[in-house]
Amino acid sequence: MKTIPRLNFAHLPTPIEDLPRLTQALGGPRILVKRDDQTGLAFGGNKTRKLEFLVAEAQEQGATMLISAGAIQSNHCRQTVAAAARFGFDCTLVLTGEKPKQASANFLLDQLFGAEIVTVEDRKDRDRILQETFDKAVAAGKRPYLVPYGGSSPTGTMGYTFAMEEFMNQNRKVDWIVFGTSSGGTHAGLVLGQRVFGFKGMVLGISIDEPEAQIKAHVSELATQASEKLSEQIQFTSDDVLVNENYCQAGYGVFGEGEREAIKLFASTEGLLLDPVYTGRAAAGMIDLIRKGFFKKDETILFWHTGGQPALFADKYSQDIIRE
Ligand SMILES: *Cc1c(COP(=O)(O)O)cnc(C)c1O
Repeated sequence: MKTIPRLNFAHLPTPIEDLPRLTQALGGPRILVKRDDQTGLAFGGNKTRKLEFLVAEAQEQGATMLISAGAIQSNHCRQTVAAAARFGFDCTLVLTGEKPKQASANFLLDQLFGAEIVTVEDRKDRDRILQETFDKAVAAGKRPYLVPYGGSSPTGTMGYTFAMEEFMNQNRKVDWIVFGTSSGGTHAGLVLGQRVFGFKGMVLGISIDEPEAQIKAHVSELATQASEKLSEQIQFTSDDVLVNENYCQAGYGVFGEGEREAIKLFASTEGLLLDPVYTGRAAAGMIDLIRKGFFKKDETILFWHTGGQPALFADKYSQDIIRE
C-alpha cells in the first residue's frame, strides 16, 4: 500500500462506548457509538479525518489559501477554516443560504477563525461564485487549494478508509455500522476500508439529503477513485453501497419530529449530544429501523457519530429542539 501525505492532528483513536440505556429504551439490539464528535479541531467531527489528508495535499502543492463551500451552518466549513488557521493558510468560504442577522454557532466560529465569507442566497449560483472566488484569488497572486464540498474528494476519502482500519484495531464485534451520509466521503472511505481491512459487517448510510440511486453511484465512484490512491485499483459498483433514503424527504437541514425525538432520546438516556442536521437525522433513521425490526435483537449496531453539535446553538434550530 502506498503511503499518502497526512498531517496528524486528529485525536485518534476515537473511543467506542456502549450505550446500554439507549439500547434498553429501544428494547435491543445492542448499540455502541464511535465518538468521531471527539476528533479534536474546533469541536471535532468527521471533517477532521478528511482534513488530515486534504491539508497535507494543499501543503504539498504549495498552496497558501484554502477555499471551500457549504451551507451557512456547515460543519465542514467551520473545521476547514480552523485547519487553515492552525496551519497558516488564508481561507475564504462560500456559504449558501440567507445571511443570518446574528452570527451564531458555526457561522460565528467561521468568523472567529478568520474566514473571509462570501454568501450566496441562491444555491444555483453557488458553483459559479465558488469558481469566481477561486479565479479572483489566483488573479490576486494567491495560491488557493480548493477543498471540495464536504471534503469528499478521493484524497479526503482517505480519512475514513483509515478510520475503518482504526475501528478494526479496536476489536469490537459489530454487525452494522450506521451513520449519516451526504457528500459521500465518509461513506466511500468506510466502504473502501471495509474491503481493504476486511470488516465483515454491514456499512449502512442513512441519507441526509440525496436519493438512494445518486448516493450509490457517487459513493461507488468515489471509493473506486480513492482505491487508486492506495494502488489497490478496486472497482466498486452501486451494489457495494448500502443506503437508506427514507429519512431525508423533508430536505437538507429541515428539522422535524424524528430528529427532535432522536436528540432528546440520546441526551436523556446517555447524556450524549447529537446535532440537528446529520446525526439527529441518522439516529432518527436508526431508531425507526430498530422499531420496525430491521435489525436482529442479538445483533450489535455501531452508531458512528460524525459530530456537528455546534449547530445545536444555531438560531435556526435551538428553539425547535426544546419545543414540546
Ligand atoms: C459532513 C457531515 C456528515 C456527512 O459526511 P459526508 O462525508 O459529507 O457524507 C455527517 N455528519 C456531520 C456532522 C457532518 O458535518
